[in-house]
Amino acid sequence: NFRAIAFAEHCISRDHISRSSLRVAQTLQQAGFSAYIVGGAVRDLLLGLKPKDYDIATNATPEEVRGLFRRSRIIGRRFRLVHVISRNETVEVSTFRGNTGHDLPQSCPAGTQTDADGRLLHDNIFGSQEEDVLRRDFTINALFYDPTTEEIIDYLHGFEDVRAKRLSVIGNPEQRFREDPVRMLRAVRLASKLSIQIDDRTAAPIGDLAPLLRNVPPARLFDEMLKLLFSGHALTGVLDLRTRGLHHGLLPMLDVVLEQPLGERFITLTLKNTDERVRQDQPVAVGFLFAALLWHEVLAAWQVRVNAGEPSIPALHQAMAEILSAQRTRLAIPRRHDSMICAIWSMQPRFYARAGRKPFRLLEQPYFRAAYDFMLLRCESGEIEPEIAQWWQAFKNADQATRESMLDAET
Ligand code: ATP
Ligand code: MG
Repeated sequence: NFRAIAFAEHCISRDHISRSSLRVAQTLQQAGFSAYIVGGAVRDLLLGLKPKDYDIATNATPEEVRGLFRRSRIIGRRFRLVHVISRNETVEVSTFRGNTGHDLPQSCPAGTQTDADGRLLHDNIFGSQEEDVLRRDFTINALFYDPTTEEIIDYLHGFEDVRAKRLSVIGNPEQRFREDPVRMLRAVRLASKLSIQIDDRTAAPIGDLAPLLRNVPPARLFDEMLKLLFSGHALTGVLDLRTRGLHHGLLPMLDVVLEQPLGERFITLTLKNTDERVRQDQPVAVGFLFAALLWHEVLAAWQVRVNAGEPSIPALHQAMAEILSAQRTRLAIPRRHDSMICAIWSMQPRFYARAGRKPFRLLEQPYFRAAYDFMLLRCESGEIEPEIAQWWQAFKNADQATRESMLDAET
């Protein structure tokens, strides 16, 4: 029992969807399978946003899909799906899946599907379209668009929820968050990205269940956090994570940092900048973001060591290592970002030196530009004197002769 919503009501024509996803859906349908655009793309189109990518749901098995498209491959371990490459776009095709934990097939005896906290361990059993709806996370993510008929198939009032700008979990919120605690992060991310409200029923258990994020592999938390940070709505997202107590398992010190005016201003400025850059399609470095998010923790750890009598620069390096390794147990920042993060942090004290050859040497450092931008944010947040930023701005943009005279003036 679903409702088929006609074009006249939703106004999404097949011209609105990407050519590649249209081609993939039509090829599947011509081969006798059902195929729908599903998930985030339908939701985004209804909200007037440009979809990031297109997902297709079908009753064809991965092997059958693979057989229809020359440029395709089966991927995924947790659940297998097919990536079809068409033009420059990858379209993700997944087979209807069932098993939301309620009806366990005989091959999987009760109890082996979830861990002691109720987390789903297997999620790869094929099902009907209706079952596929029920295993999805939110009603607005469970709409199926048929590009041939231009109808939206809605089993769960997702269409109404889109119109009401309401994020509502499918099924029992506590059970669904236990099955996959990352859904709590998705709720926060989608609410801020789409400027919609998490409904009360969905939001209610989040505070109590937040500690379950500890059971999620750190690499998956990193991926999800990255999506939030690069959504163009990182500031509201991060603040909302904190309000709901979800940050403990991700950025445990965020509380402490945001409670100090300097830390709060620094993080706010960083995330505002990030959001502006993302919205203008400008690049944002992952290393820069995490360097900023963790900076005031490094400062605190550094201070402790200096107070204990350690020499300043070695103390900074020890503090950096300490914070990075503590962070890794929660949310795994891949090690390839370490060099940038550490370069940004370790260059910070060097901006104070404005005499001799030191400023020239600093200019030559790898990641100087990132460290410089970082220093500007520190000034803007009030952590260091604005005069330092002004001097470096002038020095960086000056020609060689002017630079020499600036240094002479300092000595
Ligand atoms: P976006 O692509 O904008 O990040 P999305 O909703 O499309 O958002 P995807 O990760 O691309 O997110 O997932 C596609 C669809 O798969 C979702 O719309 C949802 O229906 C389903 N889905 C994704 N993650 C989960 C999850 N953890 N639990 C249940 N369903 C999920
Ligand atoms: Mg998507």
